[in-house]
Amino acid sequence: MISVEEALGKILSYVDVLEAEDELILSSLGRVLAEDIYSDIDIPPLDNSAMDGYAVRAESTKGASSSSPRILLIIGEVAAGYIASEEVTPGTTIRIMTGAPVPKGADAVVQFEDTDEEKRKAAKKPLSEISILRQAAKGLNIRQAGEDISRGSLVLKAGTVLRPQEIGVLASLGRDVVPVIRRPVVAVLATGDELVDIKEQLPPGKIYNSNTYSLAAQVSRYGGVPKILGIARDSIKALEDKIKQAHDADMLITSAGVSVGEYDVVKDVLARLGEVTFWTVRMKPGKPLAFGVLNLGKKKIPHLGLPGNPVSSMIAFEQFARPAILKMLGKKEFAKPTIKARSEDRIANRDGRRVFARVRVTKRDGQYFARLVGPQGSGILTSMAQANGLMIVPEDKAAIEAGAEVQVQMLDWNEEM
Ligand code: AMP
Ligand code: MG
Repeated sequence: MISVEEALGKILSYVDVLEAEDELILSSLGRVLAEDIYSDIDIPPLDNSAMDGYAVRAESTKGASSSSPRILLIIGEVAAGYIASEEVTPGTTIRIMTGAPVPKGADAVVQFEDTDEEKRKAAKKPLSEISILRQAAKGLNIRQAGEDISRGSLVLKAGTVLRPQEIGVLASLGRDVVPVIRRPVVAVLATGDELVDIKEQLPPGKIYNSNTYSLAAQVSRYGGVPKILGIARDSIKALEDKIKQAHDADMLITSAGVSVGEYDVVKDVLARLGEVTFWTVRMKPGKPLAFGVLNLGKKKIPHLGLPGNPVSSMIAFEQFARPAILKMLGKKEFAKPTIKARSEDRIANRDGRRVFARVRVTKRDGQYFARLVGPQGSGILTSMAQANGLMIVPEDKAAIEAGAEVQVQMLDWNEEM
């Protein structure tokens, strides 16, 4: 049996970062920037006002205070988006709004609160002049051109994961299309004679194919594009036909058909179409795992054969398929968010494997607690639905005692739980 880390290391050695593509900015959230982004403009483009107020020459306000105001002649008004046509000279001022370019001649802005504008308005006096009630230093309330981003500078580095704030920065540069690493297309194939498509009636002895849907949703959640190949029956011909449909995908994920006693069909087909290794991984659930590379047409396609049990396939996906997808997307962080919690249950580990127990994590008095979510059978998919984390019982531990500190991989990340 190989460890989870060994299996992951081998899988990752077969997948590479995909190529770049141009993507509309609103579709680039969560994607990885493929090129360094430089600015060809200054942001802001011009010196502009940080306040609603009066644009002045600082020297015109020298010695001003509420007891000794300086009275300036108002020669105009400028709003954001417009350029003042007048020039501010000694003794004059232009009324200015936040974001408006600073008029020629002005070198400071005095905010409304430091003038008698309110008083004049209350007295219904026309605003032809204004009293300045404080001395303004040069540069007061002025945002300088290029103070956020200067023309020619490196703004975002290749490899950056685009969050809403980076999307905003790109928009501020006027980019509507951005170069990002393309999303991997992940073909998802369920195998098994017992499976029925969810659109059909359920005959006796059959079960609905749920793995295709949980796995496809996992692919989407982590940034891949699922390509649903449906159900292959447990025959060489059926399996081969379906697998060939993955020829234009970046990865194939199959479920089931890899447990002892039945993987001969899968083994034969996979060996015919490429190279395949079957591993037993020191983990529970999810022990049987197939990994290989398929030669389908021009491309070599990595194939991950997950176990059939619905819980096993999802957990094995989290450990192996998720990092592979993230690597193809150009991401650098593959580890699931993991927290320290106190176990509320005793959990035995009888056969030296790493156990991923389904737990519900809650926070009480600043401390995380993890409680098992009922029956832990690998066929009990509702345990995944109730869980928000996977408690890790290390392979070298015979048991986790109630009250012990444990690591929990979070399936959902929410600080408050
Ligand atoms: P296998 O790996 O083929 O031995 O399957 C293990 C268990 O998982 C069996 O109980 C299967 O019926 C079940 N199973 C396999 N594939 C699926 C699927 N696509 N959806 C739901 N259950 C499945
Ligand atoms: Mg089967």
